[in-house]
Amino acid sequence: MKLIIIGAPGSGKGKLSQFLASTCAVPHISSGDIFRKSMELKTPAGLEVAKYINAGKLVPNELTTMTVLYRLEHKDCEKGFVLDGFPRTVAQAERFEEFSDIDYVVHLVTEDDTIIRRLAGRRMCRACGGNYNLLWGAFEKCECGGELYGREDDREETVAARLKIFHELFTPVLNFYKARGTKILTVKSDIKESAEDINNKFMRQFGELFK
Ligand code: AMP
Repeated sequence: MKLIIIGAPGSGKGKLSQFLASTCAVPHISSGDIFRKSMELKTPAGLEVAKYINAGKLVPNELTTMTVLYRLEHKDCEKGFVLDGFPRTVAQAERFEEFSDIDYVVHLVTEDDTIIRRLAGRRMCRACGGNYNLLWGAFEKCECGGELYGREDDREETVAARLKIFHELFTPVLNFYKARGTKILTVKSDIKESAEDINNKFMRQFGELFK
């Protein structure tokens, strides 16, 4: 199974990608994760992409595409993959199309207002990286005793800017796949739904396709 997942930051896309990857027994490939790893390891590519990522910019198409296609050539991707964060531009989608076909695009739709509220309520633990949300309880400390904090880029003004970029970039990518007749599996998530609720809803709607 070859899937592309499209969803805004804070839509629950990462959790849905992991769930679908484990359901289909294929790897979850996130371009952002690959870049973060190479930055951590300070590889030449990592030092190069850090210039863009730290400045809040997109990594150039050529470098991104080469990085992701190289990863997809690994043996574990033979039976498929769940692609998360790629393609992010039509140029990437066009290049990717020469490399592989896909079965479905999964589109996780969330109201902007829901995302702003979710990210505003998100709290991370300084000690263990645990993830909480004030929407689900009045958490003051992490289970491990660590201090909880709100991420700088989850502030309302920053989230609005991230959402604007998301809509500008992904709408043409979605249209690219619609124009090719690729089947788009759309699932809606609202403020009251946890990641597990969304996974279950997805399977109720589309489970037949994944048997
Ligand atoms: P993410 O974890 O998907 O939000 O990605 C983190 C950062 O990596 C983004 O803000 C971009 O700078 C870069 N990045 C990830 N995927 C891509 C992509 N497909 N094209 C260009 N830049 C990307």
